[in-house]
Amino acid sequence: MHPERFESWLAIDTRGLYCRPGGFHIDPHSPVNRAVITHAHSDHARAGHDHVLATRETLALMKTRLGTAAKLGTQTLPYGETLQVGDVTVTLAPAGHVLGSAQIVIEWRGRRAVISGDYKRSADPTNPPFELVPCDLLVTEATFALPVFSHGDARGEVAKLLKSLKQFPERAHVVGVYGLGKCQRLIALLREAGYVEPIYLHGALAACCEVYESFGIELGALKPATGAKREELKGAIVLAPPSAIAERWSRRMPDALTAFASGWMRVRARARQRGVELPLVISDHADWRELTRTIHETGAHEIWVTHGREDALLHHIQSTGRVGRALALIGREDEES
Ligand SMILES: [Zn+2]
Ligand SMILES: [Zn+2]
Repeated sequence: MHPERFESWLAIDTRGLYCRPGGFHIDPHSPVNRAVITHAHSDHARAGHDHVLATRETLALMKTRLGTAAKLGTQTLPYGETLQVGDVTVTLAPAGHVLGSAQIVIEWRGRRAVISGDYKRSADPTNPPFELVPCDLLVTEATFALPVFSHGDARGEVAKLLKSLKQFPERAHVVGVYGLGKCQRLIALLREAGYVEPIYLHGALAACCEVYESFGIELGALKPATGAKREELKGAIVLAPPSAIAERWSRRMPDALTAFASGWMRVRARARQRGVELPLVISDHADWRELTRTIHETGAHEIWVTHGREDALLHHIQSTGRVGRALALIGREDEES
């Protein structure tokens, strides 16, 4: 192992990214002895690890979603505190993605690597903002790594939803949202915009909302959609997992108007394909400008790219004189966007 040669001490093995001098995996896709977890989305936080290190929020969300965060033990590391793990030090920095999401900062022999996990740099009332950490190696996601992806201001999208409610006061507005992150962010943005009515939830969304509330994030009045009277749901906002908006479930709603809050809604064809009447471009991932800006601002000379669309970003990285590498990590599909 040599500190200057990152691939000698941050290796890809059959379970994912492994920090050799620290003796732990980062977001491994199958059970390991020691895992450090960036955030609780299912493509990063899997069940069955012996020991898990993460923020308190991530551990709470893992427990809610998986039943238990680890088989043998968990360790909490708050943002900004440094911990010695094996021969390396580990610090967690806010990633701005979902509650508890962290960038993993690893230092070994004078070199610093940052594994960003999923991140975004736009404002989110449910999350501390992304913190820029200067580093030598940045491992970045690339979910929306094409110049066409520019997410814009989420508040403008929320205004569209509120306008539609005024225009169609008899219709239930059924909005597809990912259960962890997007759901709570949309609720908080609606509250910020002055919407005080109860928001109705599909049953699958309640548990994560409760975790957010337990960490002091106020979501206002939430009600279960199931069992609500038809009359009540006229002109109401009903949040549901994306899979439910096209199903029978949403047809029970009075004259449902379907919306979907996702970075993918930038692509009109995707919205049409899903039968979405009101696409809302709200993303919890960095867009092209945020990705390239982050790469520049960290000062990292070497950039490793995960999560699919690597080509354009690698080209950009190489054209700016940096070393770029595509990390083929198995089992990394965007659960949430
Ligand atoms: Zn994620
Ligand atoms: Zn992810």
